[in-house]
Amino acid sequence: MTNWIDELKKAVEADFDYIKEIRRDLHRHPELAREEFRTQQRIEEELDKLGIPHWRSAETGVVARLSGSRPVPVAWEKEQKPRCLILRADIDALPVQEMHETEYKSEVPGKMHACGHDAHTAALIGTARMLSRRRDLFAGDVYLMWQPGEEIGYGAAVMIEEGQLAFGTRCFGLHMASDIPVGSVVLMPGPNNASVDWFRISVEGVGAHVSTPQKGVDAAYIAAQILIGLQALVSRMSSPMDNLLIGVGKICAGTAYNIVADHAELEGTVRSLDPELRKLTRERMERLASETAEIYGGTAKIEWADYTSVLVNSEGPTAEAQKIATELFGPEKVITFRRPALGGDDMAEFINRVPGCYAYIGSSNPDIPETEVAHHNSSFDIDEKALSVSVLLTSAYALSYMSAEKGEEEGKPAYLYRPDACPCPRGGEVNCPRYRNCSACIRYHRGKETNCFTACERKAMEKSAR
Ligand SMILES: [Zn+2]
Ligand SMILES: [Zn+2]
Repeated sequence: MTNWIDELKKAVEADFDYIKEIRRDLHRHPELAREEFRTQQRIEEELDKLGIPHWRSAETGVVARLSGSRPVPVAWEKEQKPRCLILRADIDALPVQEMHETEYKSEVPGKMHACGHDAHTAALIGTARMLSRRRDLFAGDVYLMWQPGEEIGYGAAVMIEEGQLAFGTRCFGLHMASDIPVGSVVLMPGPNNASVDWFRISVEGVGAHVSTPQKGVDAAYIAAQILIGLQALVSRMSSPMDNLLIGVGKICAGTAYNIVADHAELEGTVRSLDPELRKLTRERMERLASETAEIYGGTAKIEWADYTSVLVNSEGPTAEAQKIATELFGPEKVITFRRPALGGDDMAEFINRVPGCYAYIGSSNPDIPETEVAHHNSSFDIDEKALSVSVLLTSAYALSYMSAEKGEEEGKPAYLYRPDACPCPRGGEVNCPRYRNCSACIRYHRGKETNCFTACERKAMEKSAR
């Protein structure tokens, strides 16, 4: 293994300026969730230069497929599906005014890459370049996915709904970490990030003059009781050993100082590391809100939005990533345990469907104080050495999982393993006999290795090209 790793390290070093330039360009031009049009274009341009076929996904995202040129090892046939790796990067920025003065400072007022997604995007382009030059080292397909709208819990669910993950047998993603020194990585099995639910509790009362409260139903008072009650669900009804957070960030009620409020609203979030507790908390909150309102003669209802599930790193894939990271960076740089974060990441939805691993890449450097501030802070920045670490880890992980070991018996070429049916679950296409048996589809599947796409992928490519 050491030979190709040394060679890869040198290649990533040589590409550092290329990756850095892309990151800085994206940093100057941040785009919010679901508006990543320029970012999408930049990704597509780089993929075109590399000759990697790609198509659009979730409107402002990009999916690209890179096929290895080695035949699939016979041993893979015993596995349920032929191996297919999904590499994911999130691409959106935040509504924050950048305060840190640098030559690559955001040129868009009120928007900035304050979470490091510019680095994730650039690093995955760097990885595409590494892998595209080493097709002879791996078999099967690697799908590279630039996901939009992570900050609003949007993109992952849409990409899944589109069927982009259909072939995946393994996935990998990463995030910058300003609390970890650059050069180190965190690879921890089990829960890493909390589930995220958004909620709004609307309380309906009856208006009256404040001097005659008995003639009204005070929605402000009911909302206050619910607000207090919510914290009892955390501190009195859940174990202190459990990880549960209920935060109300916004509360409003009433119209004037001398009118009993007929309406009140509480808006907040529930975070948990335990899917069962998450479900139970939802039920308890529904009951608490409606019964509290009832006691005082009002009504309450809760609206929910499921932003993301708990991010649970799969055991096996994480152990493999730890092994590779140890070989790349040395054991002292590989952190295998740290306290999980109550911030969410919708990479969780990918790992929920395809076993995988999500890494934290250290990005802080005490000589650059801005690299040590919290994510989403207006001074946030990274030590750009984290870009090299990201590309190296992702490329090595991909080559290790997708490589055919020397001496392994060779099977069929990868394209013969692709299913005839289009995996797209949209609009009935997955079961549509037109696609299942369509001659065009079969022609693509049996065609030349690099031009072999499912009907849906081909349609998506044609649409993106327009
Ligand atoms: Zn963020
Ligand atoms: Zn983020």
